[in-house]
Amino acid sequence: MSEHHTHFIKHIVTEDMESGAYDSITTRFPPEPNGYLHIGHAKSIVLNFELADEFGGTTNLRFDDTNPLKEDKEYVDAIKEDIEWLGYEPENLRFASNYFEEMYNQAVSLIKRGLAYVEDLSQDEVRELRGTLTEPGKESPARNRSVEENLELFEQMRSGAFADGEKTLRAKIDMSSPNINLRDPVLYRISHTDHHNTGSDWCIYPMYSFAHPLEDAIEGVTHSLCTLEFEDQRPLYDWVIAKADLASEPKQIEFARLNLTNTVMSKRKLKQLVDEAFVDGWDDPRMPTISGLRRRGFTPESIKQFCREIGVSKADNLVDVRMLEHFLREDLKLKAPRTMAVLDPVKVIITNYPEGETEWLPAEVNPENEEMGTRQIPFSREIYIEREDFMEDPPKKYFRLFPNNEVRIKHAYFIHCHDFKKDENGRVTELYCTYDPETKSGSGFDARKVKGTLHYVEAGHAVPAEFRLYERLIDDEAEGDNFLDFVNSESLTVKHGFVEPNMADVTAYDKFQFFRHGYFSVDPKDSSPGAPVFNRVVELKSSFKLK
Ligand code: ATP
Ligand code: MG
Repeated sequence: MSEHHTHFIKHIVTEDMESGAYDSITTRFPPEPNGYLHIGHAKSIVLNFELADEFGGTTNLRFDDTNPLKEDKEYVDAIKEDIEWLGYEPENLRFASNYFEEMYNQAVSLIKRGLAYVEDLSQDEVRELRGTLTEPGKESPARNRSVEENLELFEQMRSGAFADGEKTLRAKIDMSSPNINLRDPVLYRISHTDHHNTGSDWCIYPMYSFAHPLEDAIEGVTHSLCTLEFEDQRPLYDWVIAKADLASEPKQIEFARLNLTNTVMSKRKLKQLVDEAFVDGWDDPRMPTISGLRRRGFTPESIKQFCREIGVSKADNLVDVRMLEHFLREDLKLKAPRTMAVLDPVKVIITNYPEGETEWLPAEVNPENEEMGTRQIPFSREIYIEREDFMEDPPKKYFRLFPNNEVRIKHAYFIHCHDFKKDENGRVTELYCTYDPETKSGSGFDARKVKGTLHYVEAGHAVPAEFRLYERLIDDEAEGDNFLDFVNSESLTVKHGFVEPNMADVTAYDKFQFFRHGYFSVDPKDSSPGAPVFNRVVELKSSFKLK
């Protein structure tokens, strides 16, 4: 990271290192395996891994798997794959569930010191006694249980003597604290649910706000970075750290989460889109998940550069999704071969071109990157152009093909249209043109100019291909939980056309810039040799400007 990417968390860490408060830093990325990672998580991943790396420290990947009802190994595997794909290597791979025994012991230690008690009241009853922002809470009758009784009850909770919800373990802090999170928060709950890691070993599970600080302390995390919604929880985080019998004292620092225009950014909502079949799985190319972006054709570098550039602050923000697309173009501009694809073809017969003959014309692979060399493209009597590049009755300023007009065929010749054929529905089926051999591309011909340049694919060698074009999945106006009403039902358009002959054997994730159409990436699931399927990652141009 350059000086350009400095931010307030980096300043805190710099001070901590300079003051000698820490010898080295350790961060962690702590996803709950209850869904696939999204672009918001990428912001946190880039922040944690690159911050630690810059200060010579390390980062753990730790699954916060304390809620077995919602968690699954499928998600664990997908999250690991996504982080690896982004190019980060965790120092350690850990699970909160690795520490269940240790957490239990910490809870017992709190009980022994009179800092926790077993509650008999139901969740609703506890809530009623909790008070409000303006009124203090009321103490529960269970609050003054003896240590011995608490220890016995907590052990019974663990051994399965109670049903779900019958008891909880609460911290004994302060029922009149102005911070409601400190009004004797629940530390453990009963849930007779098998866990993806520990099976049926446990029927009590720690609450996130108790487990998380302990996990950080056990791992020697120095800076525990999280999003702003945990700010109110920080006093509880600090309380748990202060009372725990653990040497390390991690520090929680909050930053603003990433929000993107036209995007829902919560695993719960994304899961709804999947479960209710608005999309075709978590890795649907329209999804803002890392796996969806990967399948769509985004590169790790474009995602990481985006995350670095949006910065880290405490101010809530909404980032234009076109900024992410900007970094994809930046990344692929010099890397992606440029080639031609006709997405919606109409056939052109070059009536003065000899039948049965094909010539091969040289074309640069990427004019902005000479090192990529040249390719050979065929030209013959029959070619395809885009249907929208011909009009029978063009409006003014239409510079493409129309009867008695001449255009340039990219990398080939000028052609002149003299006739066309329509079917019974009035749809154009064939165009008849002549070419001028004098106008060959690269010959320096300048006797006359044409205003339009059309791309083409030669018919005899054309490879049939499928193209998937995407629009925004969510309309602009969507807000909050009504987002399902704003799902764009026309977010996917499928086209069948042709690509150049050298593209028959493309493989998954190969990326190209198709002249005029944008950047495309080979679909990893549906593409096959001889029948390629291309996802459009982004169009070529956008009105978006960076700063
Ligand atoms: P979601 O609401 O999507 O379920 P979460 O915060 O519950 O997100 P976790 O799995 O708990 O998801 O998140 C792992 C880490 O990623 C946390 O540190 C969290 O703060 C961070 N994170 C999640 N969403 C964003 C976001 N939009 N921007 C930045 N960081 C995020
Ligand atoms: Mg969550």
